[in-house]
Amino acid sequence: MRSEEHRENILDLLPEELETAVSELGEKKFRASQIFGWLAKGVVCFDDMKNIPAVLRAGLAERYYIGIPEAVRRQESKDGTVKCLFEFADGTQVESVFMKYEYGNSICISSQSGCRMGCTFCASTMDGLDRSLSGGEMLAQVLAMRNLTGEDIGHVVVMGMGEPFDNYIQLSRFIRLIHDRKGYDLGLRNITVSTCGLIPKIREFAVDFPQVNLAVSLHAPNQKLREKTMPVARKYGYEELLRACREYTEITGRRITFEYAVIDGVNDSTECAEELASKLKGWLSHVNLIPLNEVRGREYKTANGKSVASFKKILEKNGVAVTVRRTLGSDIDAACGQLRRKK
Ligand code: SAH
Repeated sequence: MRSEEHRENILDLLPEELETAVSELGEKKFRASQIFGWLAKGVVCFDDMKNIPAVLRAGLAERYYIGIPEAVRRQESKDGTVKCLFEFADGTQVESVFMKYEYGNSICISSQSGCRMGCTFCASTMDGLDRSLSGGEMLAQVLAMRNLTGEDIGHVVVMGMGEPFDNYIQLSRFIRLIHDRKGYDLGLRNITVSTCGLIPKIREFAVDFPQVNLAVSLHAPNQKLREKTMPVARKYGYEELLRACREYTEITGRRITFEYAVIDGVNDSTECAEELASKLKGWLSHVNLIPLNEVRGREYKTANGKSVASFKKILEKNGVAVTVRRTLGSDIDAACGQLRRKK
């Protein structure tokens, strides 16, 4: 829990913890549900909680603050995408992106400020890990974005800065916080978590949150190539990762999404596509091809449209479900992690 002087972020409290807090202030437990409901509405000060007695509001304000971050930078794309650099009370900055899709509005949130996974094509990891976010701080990005855009947000993807499975406990708290029906009440199936492949956590996640969608960043058809761009592959090998993913689909009965950023001359060849297809054939899976977002200070170039299209065709020919990610917000800083670095 992050403190602002001596106070704690009330957004970090799960309903039962809020009940305890309210009882300690000498008030009835039902007040906790009311407060939890107000917080999910995105109120920024305790005095906005209209049906809460003034004494309780004052008591809460002495012990807690409402940790909704401030948008210190904001970029809006013609297609409706809004990208924000949010700053928390202690100065920690993260990026979140609001996107409009046919099926509804979605937000991509960060789970850490910076990242220590070291993927060589990614901007978020260039300065290493600053710190992990709390569950309340993940929720706060959704609330802040909704306040800012005035739009409903019905889908959350944890695909911003950071590795969510490197912050598993707080990720779990976030899911419980946003899913609680007294609060934001977001369906578990409307949440997607993306990991670079921390195998023990994939196994835990399958048991803890079988209804939440899982995406795994693969980015290569084999161990040798994956090691080159993703240092995590040295700890968790390719074949073992695929085994864990297969187990995941068996435990949950859910399809898994594999992300594949297509990088010019690195992983975009016909051979790569054939090899990937042979490994994923017959799986309950889906490949999401992401034309690489070029990052300042990184040498990688995005694969051209032709090689992405032929990569896609090869997967399809082998019966592997595949889509090419629609590029949203390409007229604003596209690759995540770039806004924070651009000072
Ligand atoms: N750490 C998690 C989630 C954050 S990154 C993960 O690795 O999955 C979200 C996705 O964006 C990942 O698939 C990541 O590999 C990808 N990504 C990172 N940098 C990128 C870039 N420059 N272009 C395209 N995709 C990128």
